[in-house]
Amino acid sequence: MINVVWLKRDLRVRDHEPLFNAQQNGNPVVLLYVIEPLLLADPHMDLRHWRFIYQSIEDINEQLAPHNGIILLQKGDVCGILQKIKDIHGSFSLFSHQEIGLNNTFERDKLVSEWCSINAVSWIESKQGAVLRGLRSREKWDKHWHKQMRAPTFDVDLDAVNWVSNSQLTSWNLSKFTLPIAWKKRPALFQLGGEKRAWHTLHHFFKERGKDYAFNISSPEASRRSCSRMSPYLAWGNISLRQMYQRLLKDWQRSGWRRSLSALSSRLHWHCHFIQKYESESEMEFRPVNRGYLSFPFREDRQRDNDVKAWYTGRTGIPLVDACMRCLRQTGYINFRMRAMLVSFLVHYLNIDWREGVVHLAKVFLDFEPGIHYPQFQMQAGVTGINIIRVYSPSKQAKERDPEASFIKK
Ligand SMILES: Cc1cc2nc3c(=O)[nH]c(=O)nc-3n(C[C@H](O)[C@H](O)[C@H](O)COP(=O)(O)OP(=O)(O)OC[C@H]3O[C@@H](n4cnc5c(N)ncnc54)[C@H](O)[C@@H]3O)c2cc1C
Repeated sequence: MINVVWLKRDLRVRDHEPLFNAQQNGNPVVLLYVIEPLLLADPHMDLRHWRFIYQSIEDINEQLAPHNGIILLQKGDVCGILQKIKDIHGSFSLFSHQEIGLNNTFERDKLVSEWCSINAVSWIESKQGAVLRGLRSREKWDKHWHKQMRAPTFDVDLDAVNWVSNSQLTSWNLSKFTLPIAWKKRPALFQLGGEKRAWHTLHHFFKERGKDYAFNISSPEASRRSCSRMSPYLAWGNISLRQMYQRLLKDWQRSGWRRSLSALSSRLHWHCHFIQKYESESEMEFRPVNRGYLSFPFREDRQRDNDVKAWYTGRTGIPLVDACMRCLRQTGYINFRMRAMLVSFLVHYLNIDWREGVVHLAKVFLDFEPGIHYPQFQMQAGVTGINIIRVYSPSKQAKERDPEASFIKK
């Protein structure tokens, strides 16, 4: 009997509960990553995401190499791949994190669950961060978040795991996935994926970058250095939120850092808070939280599509809006304030339905995380009916946040 650990948005080997559970009974362990046609075809996904995923896989493989292990990389639909493993190897147990993702991955998980019960395969799912599936009331959720974040991490001694070896995997004769050449490219302006990179970025933040975090967070230029820049690593699971929070606590008493650490701590809390909201109201992928906005008179005129295109290609003629969009396309990152301004411009200035823009931004955000992206997009578009409507003037933002226009010029 073997234990299969199915990796999704948890591309790391530390603080990994499914891996921890899988290695406990000493059975051979294999890490599986499936490149799914449903995600290859998903309009939210871009080449930048696949590169980041591949870099993360390479990083894990480097860590497994001394232990004679390697990720089993397969392309196909997950049930089909699981069936092949079963045909070749016989029964196994499946371990994974619960994915709080798009509707298509939720539907896929339902099929996997069905496949597992038909095939008598036990599937042990672990929670992602502090997010609870099917939660009815969020009343005591804050307490739960703190408990989860302070709990011990799930670390394994890689040396002690009984890995299914590289040569054993080869003998299974599963079809090999030929990687598109474009996935192997590493454009210089993008953050690189992988557990090592994640920790390097975090150490650098706590070493010096983060001291002025709270003061620089809204500047499109200074935020690139002063913000943690951990979002892609958290989104693709190169590091867990718990690991990041526990690292923050180590510096909690550090003199001169309190304001910045407190601001960061709130945002780590928001990370799960938004994903939890999305888990409980996942229809927000398709409709406004406040149904009243279904009949809002957004523009329907013939110029509308051209304006959407000008917005996402950075050609509206409004300098800060265009600079942010071009920056996103070139680097995959922009800070929170500018993200909010981009949505505000689309929805409040151009009067275009938020659904026309939400996928475009997902595609260019290297850190695309459905559970943060959808609630944030709707919030900034003012269609939740809960938060006050925020309209960000691009010229006011430019005067205050980029007074010398150095970001715009760059
Ligand atoms: C329209 C819109 C869409 C967004 N889409 C995403 C997305 O797809 N993925 C994503 O990770 N963030 C998203 N954000 C939230 C936020 O802008 C980014 O998390 C942040 O800019 C990432 O940079 P950082 O890692 O340097 O953040 P830091 O400021 O250093 O914060 C650390 C971490 O806290 C979390 N965080 C920070 N701000 C927020 C917030 N407002 N809400 C929830 N969590 C937060 C993130 O995980 C972030 O990595 C979106 C914001 C807006 C307005």
